[in-house]
Amino acid sequence: MAGEPQEDCLFCKIVTGDIPATVVRETETTVAFRDINPQAPTHVLVVPRVHYPDAASLAAAEPAVAADVLREAAEVAAQDGVDASGFRVVFNTGAGAGQTVFHVHAHVLGGRGLQWPPG
Ligand code: AMP
Ligand code: ZN
Repeated sequence: MAGEPQEDCLFCKIVTGDIPATVVRETETTVAFRDINPQAPTHVLVVPRVHYPDAASLAAAEPAVAADVLREAAEVAAQDGVDASGFRVVFNTGAGAGQTVFHVHAHVLGGRGLQWPPG
C-alpha cells in the first residue's frame, strides 16, 4: 500500500528507531534529525513517517503530510535560531539531482551564507 514502511529503507528505520539518529523534533506525522554529514551549521532532515520516494509522490498522495513536512522545516529553523538570518529548504528529487536516499526528506540548511544558484 502507498506510504507503507519499506524494509530496506534507511529513513523508515530511523522513523521506527531501529537506526539511531539525533532527533531534534517529532510530530505525529514527521521526524526531524541532524544530517550525519552536515553541510552547514544547521543541517537537519525532516521526513514524513510514511514512506514515499520523493517530494512529488508525497505531495500527490498525501498533500496534508507534505504540508506538515514544510511546517516542521520552519519549526526546525526557528528552534536552531536560523529563521531570522535565513535558511534553505531543499528536496533533492532524483539521482540526477543528488538524491541518494529514496524516502522523501527536506534538507533544512542555515547558519552560514548560502550561495544562489546552488551547485
Ligand atoms: P539526499 O542526497 O538528498 O538523498 O540526502 C540524503 C542525506 O542523508 C545526506 O545529506 C546524508 O548525509 C544523510 N544521511 C545518510 N545517512 C544518514 C544517517 N544515518 N543519519 C542522518 N543522515 C544521514
Ligand atoms: Zn522509507
